[in-house]
Amino acid sequence: MIFIRKYAILPLLLLMLSSCGGQDEVQQNPQYRIQSGHDLRMLTTSDTHYLAQKLRDLGPAFQQFLAAGDGKQLGYSKEMMEALGYDIGIRKPDVVIISGDLSNNGEAASHKELAGQLKRIEQETGTRIYVIPGNHDIRNPWARSFRGKRQYSADSVTATAFRNIYGSFGYDEALLRDEDSLSYLAAPSEELWLLMLDTAQYGDNKALGHPQLEGRISGRTLEWIADCGAKAAAAGAQLVAVMHHSLLNHSEFIQEGFTVEDHAKVTDALMKSGVRTVLSGHIHIQDISEYRHDGDRIYDIASSALSVYPHQYGLLTYSSARQTLDYSTARLGMEPWAAATGNTDPNLLGFKAYSEANFRKRSASRSYSRLAEDPAYARYPESELQEMADVVGRLNEYYFVGNASTGLAAVTATEGYRLWQSAPASATRSYVLKMASQQPKNNHDLHVQLPER
Ligand code: FE
Ligand code: MN
Repeated sequence: MIFIRKYAILPLLLLMLSSCGGQDEVQQNPQYRIQSGHDLRMLTTSDTHYLAQKLRDLGPAFQQFLAAGDGKQLGYSKEMMEALGYDIGIRKPDVVIISGDLSNNGEAASHKELAGQLKRIEQETGTRIYVIPGNHDIRNPWARSFRGKRQYSADSVTATAFRNIYGSFGYDEALLRDEDSLSYLAAPSEELWLLMLDTAQYGDNKALGHPQLEGRISGRTLEWIADCGAKAAAAGAQLVAVMHHSLLNHSEFIQEGFTVEDHAKVTDALMKSGVRTVLSGHIHIQDISEYRHDGDRIYDIASSALSVYPHQYGLLTYSSARQTLDYSTARLGMEPWAAATGNTDPNLLGFKAYSEANFRKRSASRSYSRLAEDPAYARYPESELQEMADVVGRLNEYYFVGNASTGLAAVTATEGYRLWQSAPASATRSYVLKMASQQPKNNHDLHVQLPER
């Protein structure tokens, strides 16, 4: 049928069928790798923000870029992908999903190097990888290389080039492709299909001078989604949607540009197409949101970025017998990979501690400079400002990890937090106090009962 790559195994299949003569009734749909009646195990991740090794040295320009960034461990892109491959070899998921922002800033060299890594992972582990673009991946004017004290502009990719580079990671085996975006429908198993949605808008990037942050699904793509829903329903398949931008709002702390435009309309279209679970990225925060309508519910699982502390991914299992999805998170096994491969870099052998300290320190030092410049906070001695900044660093960390509500006790018991309570009004103070009053919520585990088929 549509699975062109499957033609290669057809002769072998026919041979096997003819050799067990007369047992035509056992013949099953040959186009699905995983047939009806089987579970499907998926590893879901996002925002790998891969930066090709050849695009950087370790000089001051690169170090400055890291320090000004949001905690991406861009100096260890290659190592993180190798550790992911190592984990995939151990966990053996049938499918791996990466929900966009594959590259740091859309550099052609990063996409090509990452695609090479993904190919190696597929070959070594037998898993199947499916990707979509994020807002950083295509026609990105921020594409850069780093040498010594300078940044140089680097080649980015067009939508066509993206589709070609990642052809074997979803596009070439699509059941249906959208003509209005890089969205496609894939069927890794007979019973569970993936609606891979391209929500990024890259058409105006060159004129804007930056990658457009906001995500959108066009009216034509919404119609195409309805076609996908109808096709899945006719085949009795469950649909899981994957998109870079959030379907649902995740937090009062995140401003506009993160949830897809017209999200009520998109939510409605997805629910009508039988989608109950969405996997997204973009916000770099681990957060599960839920929306209920007419007795039905839909979940948006935002994965934190693989490239940012705590470097975690999701494990999603579909049960054929129960018609359920079960989600949980796990940390990237950088340390065991480093140890197993004889790596001697202490940062990698103790990656959790290294990356956590790095994340917290960067975030604290930024709030420290903000506080130190604020005249309203001039009366505080340096040591107290440090304690207060440390509170912000820790709260940010728990927030990104997905433990904003569960990690609070350790923060609210500190002297720094006590200082914040009586501090003069400021944006940071309201952030700290709001964060500390959040309701407990589990962003790491989810059980979904799927609709009947
Ligand atoms: Fe991102
Ligand atoms: Mn993004």
